[in-house]
Amino acid sequence: MSLDVSRAREETPGCNEVLHFNNAGASLMPEPVLESVVSYLELEARIGGYEAAGRMQDRLENTYDAAARLVGCDRDEIAVVENATRAWDMAFYSIPFQPEDRILTAEAEYSSNYIAYLQVARKTGASVEVVPSDRSGQLSVDALREMIDERVRLISVTHVPTNGGLVNPAKEIGAVAREAGCLFLLDACQSAGQIPLNVSEVGCDMLSVTGRKFLRGPRGTGFLYVRRGLLDSLEPPFLDLHAATWTSEDTYEVRADARRFENWETNFAGKVGLGVAIDYAFKWGLENIESRVKALAGTLRERVCEIPGITVRDLGREQCGIVTLTSDRKTPLKLFEKLSERGINTSVTPSNSTLIDMERRQLDGLLRASVHYFNTEEEIDRFCRELSRITTG
Ligand SMILES: *Cc1c(COP(=O)(O)O)cnc(C)c1O
Repeated sequence: MSLDVSRAREETPGCNEVLHFNNAGASLMPEPVLESVVSYLELEARIGGYEAAGRMQDRLENTYDAAARLVGCDRDEIAVVENATRAWDMAFYSIPFQPEDRILTAEAEYSSNYIAYLQVARKTGASVEVVPSDRSGQLSVDALREMIDERVRLISVTHVPTNGGLVNPAKEIGAVAREAGCLFLLDACQSAGQIPLNVSEVGCDMLSVTGRKFLRGPRGTGFLYVRRGLLDSLEPPFLDLHAATWTSEDTYEVRADARRFENWETNFAGKVGLGVAIDYAFKWGLENIESRVKALAGTLRERVCEIPGITVRDLGREQCGIVTLTSDRKTPLKLFEKLSERGINTSVTPSNSTLIDMERRQLDGLLRASVHYFNTEEEIDRFCRELSRITTG
C-alpha cells in the first residue's frame, strides 16, 4: 500500500518552514503529537500537575500499550524514561558483570554505549571486544560466532548506527545470542519508527528506543524493553520510591515489572506525546513507512553521487533512511552551514560519535541527510541542486 504523502505533509506543520533531512537528529512532530503535548501542559496549568495526571491516567497508560505493540512485547516489559541513553544505561548498568566476562560489540557502536562499556570494564575487570565487520560493512555474523565462548556475558550492538545507512543484521545476531545463551542488548534508537521491530523475531533480551527521531515524538522521551524472564535478575543501578517500595527499617522491595527502571518524576506531557507518536506511526503502517523511507534514501544516494566531488559513505547490505556523504571540496561543517542558510536541515556527524568505525575508514566527519516518509522527490531535487551549487561554487 502506498502512503498519502500530501496528507502526511498537511499534518506536519514544519513542512511549511523547512526542508527537513534531519530525521535521525530529531524529526518534525506531526499535528496530533504536538496537540497532545500542548493540551496536556495546558491541563496541568489549569488544574494542577498531580490532578492532570489523575485525569489523564488512560492516556499515560496508553503509552505502555503503544510501546509494547511497537516492539511486540507485553506492557509490563516496558519502562518509559527520558531518552534512549537512559533506557540503555538502566539495562546495561543492571547487568552484574564479573571479572572474566566478555562484552562483544560492533565497529559502528555509538559513543555513549562504548563509554559505558569502558567504565564498566574498568570497574569490574570485564573485557570489551569489537566484532569485525564483513565486506559489506555490517557486523560479521561469522566472526561473531567464532568469538563466542562461555565467558561472553553480553552481545550489545546498535541496530542502525548514528553515522550512516547501515542496518546491522539484528535477527542473525539474536540467533547467535540465543544459541550461546548470553544476553543480547539492542540499541534500536535509529531504527524505531523507520523499520518494523519485533523483539521475539530479533531474539533480544533488552532494547532501547528514543522518541524524537524516526518516531516523530517529543524530545526528552524514550523507552526500554526488558524480557520478563530477565527482570528479576537485573537490579537497577538507581532505585527510588517508584522503582521500589520501602517496606521496613532495613529493607525494600523492587517492583516486579519493567517500571523498576523508571523514576517517579518525569515529563508527563512528553510521555503522553510519545504514545501518540507511536500510534500515529501505526496509522501509516510501519511496513509502508519502511518502504517509502528506503526508496527515498536510495534515490537520494544515487542523485548525490552525480554531483562532482561527492562520495556517499553508507555501509551495509541493507540500508535505511540515513544518507551520509563527504565532498572533496568542502568540509561537512561547511556543507551543513551553507545548506542551513538555504533552509535545508541536515546534521554533521563527528568522528567521535562512532570512533572505531570512523577511524577505520579514516573519516573525520560526515554530512548526514536523513529522510522520512513525509519528504518528497521534489525536496531531493532541491537538496541536490543546492548541494551542487555549494560544492562547485
Ligand atoms: C541518538 C542515539 C542514541 C541516544 O538517544 P537519546 O534519546 O539522545 O538518548 C543512542 N544510540 C544511537 C545509535 C543514537 O543514534
